Amino acid sequence: MINSILDLSKIEAGRFDLEHQDFSIAELLQDVVPVINASAHAKGLQLSIQMTALPASLRGDRTRLAQALVNYLSNAIKFTERGKITLRGSKLEETANGYLLRFEVADTGIGISPAEQALLFEPFSQADSSTTRRFGGSGLGLAITRQIARLMGGDAGVDSTPGEGSVFWFTAWLGKGEKLPSASAATALESDEETLRREHGGKRLLLVEDEPINREIAQMLLEDVGLVVETAEDGLAALQLAEKNDYALILMDMQMPKMDGIEATKAIRQLPGHQATPILALTANAFASECERCLSAGMNDFITKPVDPARLSRILLKYLSRPQDSAAQGV
Ligand code: ADP
Repeated sequence: MINSILDLSKIEAGRFDLEHQDFSIAELLQDVVPVINASAHAKGLQLSIQMTALPASLRGDRTRLAQALVNYLSNAIKFTERGKITLRGSKLEETANGYLLRFEVADTGIGISPAEQALLFEPFSQADSSTTRRFGGSGLGLAITRQIARLMGGDAGVDSTPGEGSVFWFTAWLGKGEKLPSASAATALESDEETLRREHGGKRLLLVEDEPINREIAQMLLEDVGLVVETAEDGLAALQLAEKNDYALILMDMQMPKMDGIEATKAIRQLPGHQATPILALTANAFASECERCLSAGMNDFITKPVDPARLSRILLKYLSRPQDSAAQGV
Protein backbone atom coordinates (compact mmCIF):
# COMPACT_ATOMS: atom_id res chain seq x y z
CA MET A 1 0.00 0.00 0.00
CA ILE A 2 2.72 2.48 1.01
CA ASN A 3 4.78 1.44 -2.01
CA SER A 4 1.75 2.05 -4.23
CA ILE A 5 1.24 5.55 -2.86
CA LEU A 6 4.92 6.32 -3.30
CA ASP A 7 4.79 5.01 -6.86
CA LEU A 8 1.79 7.11 -7.69
CA SER A 9 3.11 10.28 -6.09
CA LYS A 10 6.41 9.84 -7.93
CA ILE A 11 4.62 9.40 -11.24
CA GLU A 12 2.41 12.42 -10.62
CA ALA A 13 5.34 14.58 -9.58
CA GLY A 14 7.09 13.62 -12.81
CA ARG A 15 9.88 11.99 -10.79
CA PHE A 16 9.60 8.64 -12.36
CA ASP A 17 12.07 7.46 -14.93
CA LEU A 18 11.35 4.59 -17.24
CA GLU A 19 14.09 2.09 -17.96
CA HIS A 20 15.15 1.40 -21.52
CA GLN A 21 16.38 -2.15 -21.76
CA ASP A 22 16.05 -4.90 -24.31
CA PHE A 23 13.86 -7.79 -23.32
CA SER A 24 11.78 -10.51 -24.90
CA ILE A 25 8.11 -11.30 -24.42
CA ALA A 26 9.15 -14.64 -22.93
CA GLU A 27 11.18 -12.82 -20.26
CA LEU A 28 8.25 -10.51 -19.56
CA LEU A 29 6.01 -13.55 -19.07
CA GLN A 30 8.54 -15.03 -16.68
CA ASP A 31 8.21 -11.89 -14.54
CA VAL A 32 4.43 -12.08 -14.58
CA VAL A 33 3.16 -15.64 -14.69
CA PRO A 34 4.85 -17.15 -11.61
CA VAL A 35 3.37 -14.30 -9.52
CA ILE A 36 -0.25 -15.09 -10.39
CA ASN A 37 -0.26 -18.71 -11.56
CA ALA A 38 -0.71 -20.28 -8.12
CA SER A 39 -3.66 -18.10 -7.11
CA ALA A 40 -5.43 -18.76 -10.45
CA HIS A 41 -4.91 -22.50 -9.96
CA ALA A 42 -6.07 -22.32 -6.34
CA LYS A 43 -9.40 -20.81 -7.47
CA GLY A 44 -9.75 -23.36 -10.27
CA LEU A 45 -9.54 -20.64 -12.94
CA GLN A 46 -8.16 -21.44 -16.33
CA LEU A 47 -5.36 -19.12 -17.40
CA SER A 48 -4.78 -18.64 -21.09
CA ILE A 49 -1.92 -16.66 -22.62
CA GLN A 50 -2.05 -15.36 -26.18
CA MET A 51 1.07 -13.30 -26.72
CA THR A 52 2.54 -14.84 -29.85
CA ALA A 53 1.25 -11.97 -32.04
CA LEU A 54 3.75 -9.64 -30.34
CA PRO A 55 7.25 -8.86 -31.63
CA ALA A 56 9.72 -11.18 -29.86
CA SER A 57 12.25 -8.49 -29.02
CA LEU A 58 11.37 -5.17 -27.36
CA ARG A 59 13.02 -2.25 -25.65
CA GLY A 60 11.56 -0.42 -22.67
CA ASP A 61 10.71 -0.79 -19.01
CA ARG A 62 10.08 -4.48 -18.48
CA THR A 63 9.55 -4.15 -14.72
CA ARG A 64 6.83 -1.50 -15.06
CA LEU A 65 5.15 -3.42 -17.85
CA ALA A 66 5.14 -6.53 -15.68
CA GLN A 67 3.75 -4.50 -12.78
CA ALA A 68 0.86 -3.26 -14.94
CA LEU A 69 0.08 -6.78 -16.15
CA VAL A 70 0.26 -8.24 -12.64
CA ASN A 71 -2.15 -5.52 -11.43
CA TYR A 72 -4.71 -6.48 -14.06
CA LEU A 73 -4.23 -10.21 -13.68
CA SER A 74 -4.44 -10.25 -9.90
CA ASN A 75 -7.64 -8.16 -10.02
CA ALA A 76 -9.09 -10.52 -12.62
CA ILE A 77 -8.37 -13.48 -10.35
CA LYS A 78 -9.70 -11.66 -7.29
CA PHE A 79 -13.02 -10.73 -8.93
CA THR A 80 -13.67 -13.99 -10.80
CA GLU A 81 -15.18 -17.03 -9.14
CA ARG A 82 -15.28 -19.40 -12.08
CA GLY A 83 -14.26 -19.55 -15.71
CA LYS A 84 -11.28 -18.17 -17.43
CA ILE A 85 -8.68 -15.40 -17.40
CA THR A 86 -7.08 -14.54 -20.73
CA LEU A 87 -3.95 -12.44 -21.20
CA ARG A 88 -3.70 -11.20 -24.75
CA GLY A 89 -1.17 -9.04 -26.58
CA SER A 90 -1.37 -7.46 -30.02
CA LYS A 91 0.57 -5.00 -32.15
CA LEU A 92 -1.51 -1.97 -33.17
CA GLU A 93 1.10 0.08 -34.99
CA GLU A 94 4.70 -0.11 -36.08
CA THR A 95 7.04 2.75 -36.94
CA ALA A 96 10.76 2.86 -37.68
CA ASN A 97 11.47 3.27 -33.96
CA GLY A 98 8.97 1.11 -32.23
CA TYR A 99 5.62 -0.50 -31.75
CA LEU A 100 2.31 0.52 -30.23
CA LEU A 101 1.21 -2.58 -28.35
CA ARG A 102 -2.07 -3.42 -26.71
CA PHE A 103 -2.27 -5.74 -23.71
CA GLU A 104 -5.56 -6.95 -22.33
CA VAL A 105 -6.77 -9.14 -19.52
CA ALA A 106 -10.23 -10.61 -19.97
CA ASP A 107 -12.10 -12.30 -17.15
CA THR A 108 -15.44 -14.02 -16.64
CA GLY A 109 -15.98 -12.37 -13.26
CA ILE A 110 -18.45 -10.04 -11.56
CA GLY A 111 -18.08 -7.19 -14.06
CA ILE A 112 -18.50 -3.47 -13.40
CA SER A 113 -21.45 -1.15 -14.11
CA PRO A 114 -20.93 1.72 -16.60
CA ALA A 115 -21.24 4.36 -13.86
CA GLU A 116 -18.49 2.70 -11.84
CA GLN A 117 -16.24 2.15 -14.85
CA ALA A 118 -15.86 5.90 -15.28
CA LEU A 119 -14.26 6.29 -11.85
CA LEU A 120 -12.19 3.14 -11.51
CA PHE A 121 -8.91 4.49 -12.76
CA GLU A 122 -9.02 7.38 -10.29
CA PRO A 123 -6.75 6.91 -7.26
CA PHE A 124 -8.39 5.30 -4.20
CA SER A 125 -11.53 4.40 -6.10
CA GLN A 126 -13.25 1.05 -5.78
CA ALA A 127 -16.40 -0.09 -7.55
CA ASP A 128 -18.41 0.08 -4.35
CA SER A 129 -17.48 0.48 -0.74
CA SER A 130 -18.50 -3.09 0.10
CA THR A 131 -15.61 -4.20 -2.17
CA THR A 132 -13.06 -3.07 0.39
CA ARG A 133 -14.80 -4.99 3.10
CA ARG A 134 -15.01 -8.13 1.01
CA PHE A 135 -11.76 -8.08 -0.90
CA GLY A 136 -9.51 -5.53 0.76
CA GLY A 137 -7.24 -3.62 -1.59
CA SER A 138 -6.19 -0.01 -1.85
CA GLY A 139 -7.89 1.20 -5.00
CA LEU A 140 -4.50 2.28 -6.33
CA GLY A 141 -3.58 -0.51 -8.72
CA LEU A 142 -5.60 0.71 -11.67
CA ALA A 143 -4.49 4.32 -11.20
CA ILE A 144 -0.87 3.17 -11.29
CA THR A 145 -1.47 1.00 -14.34
CA ARG A 146 -2.98 3.92 -16.22
CA GLN A 147 -0.10 6.20 -15.24
CA ILE A 148 2.42 3.62 -16.42
CA ALA A 149 0.58 3.27 -19.73
CA ARG A 150 0.48 7.05 -20.19
CA LEU A 151 4.17 7.39 -19.39
CA MET A 152 4.72 4.89 -22.18
CA GLY A 153 2.64 7.00 -24.57
CA GLY A 154 -0.48 4.88 -24.31
CA ASP A 155 -3.60 4.75 -22.19
CA ALA A 156 -5.67 2.32 -20.14
CA GLY A 157 -9.35 1.48 -19.88
CA VAL A 158 -11.98 -1.16 -19.36
CA ASP A 159 -14.93 -2.69 -21.20
CA SER A 160 -17.22 -4.59 -18.93
CA THR A 161 -20.68 -6.09 -18.61
CA PRO A 162 -21.93 -6.63 -15.06
CA GLY A 163 -22.38 -10.32 -14.36
CA GLU A 164 -20.44 -11.39 -17.46
CA GLY A 165 -16.93 -10.14 -17.04
CA SER A 166 -14.45 -7.41 -17.88
CA VAL A 167 -11.71 -6.67 -20.34
CA PHE A 168 -9.06 -4.39 -18.84
CA TRP A 169 -6.67 -3.06 -21.49
CA PHE A 170 -3.72 -0.75 -21.83
CA THR A 171 -1.61 0.41 -24.72
CA ALA A 172 2.06 1.40 -24.69
CA TRP A 173 4.77 2.43 -27.11
CA LEU A 174 7.83 0.24 -26.88
CA GLY A 175 11.10 0.37 -28.73
CA LYS A 176 12.49 -2.32 -30.96
CA GLY A 177 14.95 -4.62 -29.22
CA GLU A 178 18.40 -5.05 -30.66
CA LYS A 179 18.94 -8.28 -32.56
CA LEU A 180 22.71 -8.12 -32.19
CA PRO A 181 24.50 -8.86 -28.94
CA SER A 182 25.24 -5.60 -27.19
CA ALA A 183 28.54 -4.81 -25.53
CA SER A 184 26.81 -4.41 -22.18
CA ALA A 185 27.53 -6.31 -18.99
CA ALA A 186 24.80 -8.82 -19.82
CA THR A 187 26.73 -10.26 -22.72
CA ALA A 188 27.02 -13.78 -21.31
CA LEU A 189 23.34 -14.42 -21.93
CA GLU A 190 23.18 -12.47 -25.16
CA SER A 191 26.13 -14.15 -26.77
CA ASP A 192 24.87 -17.64 -25.95
CA GLU A 193 21.54 -16.75 -27.47
CA GLU A 194 23.19 -15.21 -30.47
CA THR A 195 25.38 -18.25 -31.05
CA LEU A 196 22.38 -20.52 -30.69
CA ARG A 197 20.45 -18.52 -33.26
CA ARG A 198 23.35 -18.39 -35.69
CA GLU A 199 24.56 -21.98 -35.40
CA HIS A 200 21.40 -23.86 -34.59
CA GLY A 201 18.52 -21.66 -35.80
CA GLY A 202 15.89 -23.75 -37.60
CA LYS A 203 16.70 -26.98 -35.77
CA ARG A 204 13.69 -28.97 -34.62
CA LEU A 205 13.12 -29.70 -30.92
CA LEU A 206 10.47 -31.66 -29.09
CA LEU A 207 9.14 -30.05 -25.91
CA VAL A 208 7.26 -32.42 -23.62
CA GLU A 209 5.39 -30.68 -20.80
CA ASP A 210 1.85 -31.20 -19.51
CA GLU A 211 1.39 -27.85 -17.75
CA PRO A 212 0.11 -25.42 -20.44
CA ILE A 213 1.63 -22.23 -19.04
CA ASN A 214 5.07 -23.78 -18.48
CA ARG A 215 4.84 -25.22 -21.97
CA GLU A 216 3.97 -21.86 -23.49
CA ILE A 217 6.83 -20.09 -21.70
CA ALA A 218 9.40 -22.72 -22.63
CA GLN A 219 8.17 -22.69 -26.22
CA MET A 220 8.58 -18.92 -26.42
CA LEU A 221 12.08 -19.06 -24.93
CA LEU A 222 13.07 -21.67 -27.51
CA GLU A 223 11.47 -19.84 -30.42
CA ASP A 224 13.18 -16.63 -29.28
CA VAL A 225 16.52 -18.21 -30.17
CA GLY A 226 15.29 -19.39 -33.56
CA LEU A 227 14.53 -23.02 -32.76
CA VAL A 228 11.53 -24.81 -34.24
CA VAL A 229 9.42 -26.35 -31.50
CA GLU A 230 6.98 -29.23 -31.55
CA THR A 231 5.10 -29.93 -28.34
CA ALA A 232 3.64 -32.96 -26.63
CA GLU A 233 1.42 -32.93 -23.53
CA ASP A 234 2.52 -36.23 -22.04
CA GLY A 235 5.09 -38.98 -22.40
CA LEU A 236 2.90 -41.14 -24.59
CA ALA A 237 2.30 -38.36 -27.13
CA ALA A 238 6.06 -37.68 -27.07
CA LEU A 239 6.83 -41.31 -27.81
CA GLN A 240 4.43 -41.31 -30.75
CA LEU A 241 6.04 -38.17 -32.19
CA ALA A 242 9.54 -39.54 -31.69
CA GLU A 243 8.56 -42.70 -33.61
CA LYS A 244 7.81 -40.57 -36.66
CA ASN A 245 10.31 -37.72 -36.45
CA ASP A 246 13.93 -36.83 -35.87
CA TYR A 247 14.66 -34.17 -33.29
CA ALA A 248 17.88 -32.31 -32.62
CA LEU A 249 17.00 -32.40 -28.92
CA ILE A 250 14.14 -33.33 -26.58
CA LEU A 251 13.14 -31.41 -23.44
CA MET A 252 11.23 -33.73 -21.14
CA ASP A 253 9.13 -32.89 -18.09
CA MET A 254 9.31 -35.53 -15.34
CA GLN A 255 5.81 -35.77 -13.90
CA MET A 256 3.10 -36.15 -16.52
CA PRO A 257 -0.18 -38.04 -16.93
CA LYS A 258 -0.35 -41.25 -19.02
CA MET A 259 3.43 -41.75 -19.19
CA ASP A 260 6.01 -39.88 -17.13
CA GLY A 261 9.35 -38.51 -18.34
CA ILE A 262 11.38 -41.48 -17.13
CA GLU A 263 9.25 -44.09 -18.90
CA ALA A 264 9.02 -41.99 -22.06
CA THR A 265 12.80 -41.55 -22.16
CA LYS A 266 13.43 -45.27 -21.75
CA ALA A 267 11.00 -46.01 -24.58
CA ILE A 268 12.39 -43.31 -26.88
CA ARG A 269 15.93 -44.64 -26.35
CA GLN A 270 14.74 -47.97 -27.82
CA LEU A 271 13.59 -46.33 -31.05
CA PRO A 272 15.85 -46.46 -34.09
CA GLY A 273 17.58 -43.10 -34.57
CA HIS A 274 17.04 -41.93 -30.98
CA GLN A 275 19.87 -43.64 -29.13
CA ALA A 276 21.89 -40.45 -29.22
CA THR A 277 19.25 -37.71 -29.34
CA PRO A 278 20.03 -35.39 -26.42
CA ILE A 279 17.19 -35.65 -23.90
CA LEU A 280 17.17 -33.05 -21.14
CA ALA A 281 14.89 -33.38 -18.12
CA LEU A 282 12.78 -30.48 -16.87
CA THR A 283 12.70 -31.12 -13.13
CA ALA A 284 10.95 -29.36 -10.29
CA ASN A 285 13.80 -30.20 -7.91
CA ALA A 286 17.52 -30.75 -8.16
CA PHE A 287 17.92 -33.45 -5.53
CA ALA A 288 20.72 -35.90 -6.24
CA SER A 289 18.25 -38.80 -6.29
CA GLU A 290 16.15 -37.06 -8.96
CA CYS A 291 19.24 -36.39 -11.13
CA GLU A 292 20.28 -40.02 -10.81
CA ARG A 293 16.84 -41.15 -11.88
CA CYS A 294 17.02 -38.89 -14.97
CA LEU A 295 20.49 -40.02 -15.94
CA SER A 296 19.89 -43.71 -15.38
CA ALA A 297 16.76 -43.56 -17.55
CA GLY A 298 18.99 -42.40 -20.39
CA MET A 299 18.61 -38.64 -20.13
CA ASN A 300 21.72 -36.56 -20.78
CA ASP A 301 21.21 -33.73 -18.33
CA PHE A 302 18.56 -31.74 -16.52
CA ILE A 303 17.26 -28.19 -16.09
CA THR A 304 15.35 -27.12 -13.00
CA LYS A 305 12.04 -25.30 -13.20
CA PRO A 306 11.19 -22.44 -13.38
CA VAL A 307 13.49 -22.42 -16.37
CA ASP A 308 16.18 -19.75 -16.21
CA PRO A 309 16.66 -18.38 -19.76
CA ALA A 310 20.45 -18.01 -19.38
CA ARG A 311 20.88 -21.57 -18.14
CA LEU A 312 18.58 -22.88 -20.84
CA SER A 313 20.62 -21.18 -23.56
CA ARG A 314 23.86 -22.52 -22.14
CA ILE A 315 22.70 -26.11 -21.89
CA LEU A 316 21.05 -26.04 -25.33
CA LEU A 317 24.25 -24.75 -26.82
CA LYS A 318 26.23 -27.52 -25.14
CA TYR A 319 24.04 -30.36 -26.39
CA LEU A 320 23.16 -28.97 -29.82
CA SER A 321 26.86 -28.40 -30.56
CA ARG A 322 27.81 -31.99 -29.71
CA PRO A 323 28.34 -34.39 -32.55
CA GLN A 324 25.58 -37.00 -32.16
CA ASP A 325 27.95 -39.98 -31.91
CA SER A 326 29.85 -38.50 -28.98
CA ALA A 327 26.49 -37.85 -27.34
CA ALA A 328 25.83 -41.55 -27.71
CA GLN A 329 29.02 -42.36 -25.82
CA GLY A 330 27.88 -40.11 -23.03
CA VAL A 331 24.68 -42.12 -22.53
P1 ADP B 1 -7.66 -2.64 -5.45
O1 ADP B 1 -6.36 -2.64 -4.74
O2 ADP B 1 -8.81 -2.19 -4.59
O3 ADP B 1 -7.96 -3.88 -6.19
P2 ADP B 1 -7.54 -1.40 -8.02
O4 ADP B 1 -7.28 0.03 -8.43
O5 ADP B 1 -6.67 -2.43 -8.61
O6 ADP B 1 -7.48 -1.43 -6.47
O7 ADP B 1 -9.04 -1.73 -8.35
C1 ADP B 1 -10.07 -0.80 -8.00
C2 ADP B 1 -11.43 -1.44 -8.04
O8 ADP B 1 -11.79 -1.78 -9.37
C3 ADP B 1 -11.53 -2.75 -7.28
O9 ADP B 1 -11.70 -2.55 -5.91
C4 ADP B 1 -12.78 -3.34 -7.93
O10 ADP B 1 -13.95 -2.73 -7.39
C5 ADP B 1 -12.65 -2.90 -9.37
N1 ADP B 1 -12.05 -3.93 -10.24
C6 ADP B 1 -10.75 -4.00 -10.66
N2 ADP B 1 -10.55 -5.05 -11.45
C7 ADP B 1 -11.74 -5.68 -11.56
C8 ADP B 1 -12.18 -6.84 -12.28
N3 ADP B 1 -11.35 -7.56 -13.04
N4 ADP B 1 -13.49 -7.18 -12.16
C9 ADP B 1 -14.33 -6.45 -11.39
N5 ADP B 1 -13.98 -5.35 -10.70
C10 ADP B 1 -12.71 -4.96 -10.78
